[in-house]
Amino acid sequence: MEKVQTGLVIEFYSNSCLVRTKDADISCIAIKDVVVGDIVKIEIIQDSKKIKGLILSREPRFSILEKKEVLKSKVVAANVTHVGILVTPEPKTSTDFIDKWVLTANLSNITPFIINNKIDLVQNEEYLTKLEIYKNLKIDFIDISAKSNQNLGQVSDYLKGKCVVFVGNSGAGKSTLTTSLTGKDIKTNVLYNNQGVHTTSISTLYEIDNDTKIIDSPGVRDLYITGWDDKDIIKGFSEIYAFSRYCKFNDCNHINNDGCHVTEKLINGEINQSRYNNFIKFRDREEDE
Ligand code: GDP
Ligand code: ZN
Repeated sequence: MEKVQTGLVIEFYSNSCLVRTKDADISCIAIKDVVVGDIVKIEIIQDSKKIKGLILSREPRFSILEKKEVLKSKVVAANVTHVGILVTPEPKTSTDFIDKWVLTANLSNITPFIINNKIDLVQNEEYLTKLEIYKNLKIDFIDISAKSNQNLGQVSDYLKGKCVVFVGNSGAGKSTLTTSLTGKDIKTNVLYNNQGVHTTSISTLYEIDNDTKIIDSPGVRDLYITGWDDKDIIKGFSEIYAFSRYCKFNDCNHINNDGCHVTEKLINGEINQSRYNNFIKFRDREEDE
């Protein structure tokens, strides 16, 4: 076995992590600034019983998902390319939730897409109208039933070559979907640490067919949108941002300023009311999530 190897961080525990190299999955001591999804260089240390690894360095990242708070922020996953937002009639997914994730993804160099799960349940008019908002934004969209295995092939085809995080309210079907795609029961993922005490992983990366990665991390699910600069929020609402460039004043508040192109497009229906409301709510910190 080569002494220095490159690998992918696939599991993270409180003070250790698992790095997958071409040879093996090697347990390493966790170090600062390394998270699941990172590519790292490790040095193999072989003591009498066990092979272990020492993380030497980490490669530059394509993207990061960050838990941002006003004073501090913490990276929770690296190199994610796609966020799959699970939307369901039951539990009801709010547009706040969807817009928060579309925004977070857009501002993090990650592509958001929507998974309409539980298509076996009744989808009423109100629900379908909600979905229409996002279809109009040209966000990729897949209808599935994770429980009855409908269209899961479309999800796996879509995810080829990508690294995805599924997000959704509790009960939306993230575990069911991840279990179906990976064939692993993700709720029973435990590890015994060196004292023999089992610890649940903080985050796990599953690989399917070598070219699809799914990151499951409870820490990712409750990311906040506080912490983004007020001025950046509009960039996460791409269609509103595009119109805002034609506002008469550079510092337009997009509420009641003279010559505002955004409110004009809101009135004529080219900007959706619910998208607009969430933009203002997030920007002006009226949100409570
Ligand atoms: P999580 O909290 O997002 O991980 O959600 P789970 O995967 O634990 O699913 C919550 C509940 O929704 C479970 O009872 C699942 O069986 C159910 N569920 C998941 N997918 C579907 C679906 O496509 N249709 C229906 N009717 N129920 C589903
Ligand atoms: Zn404006």
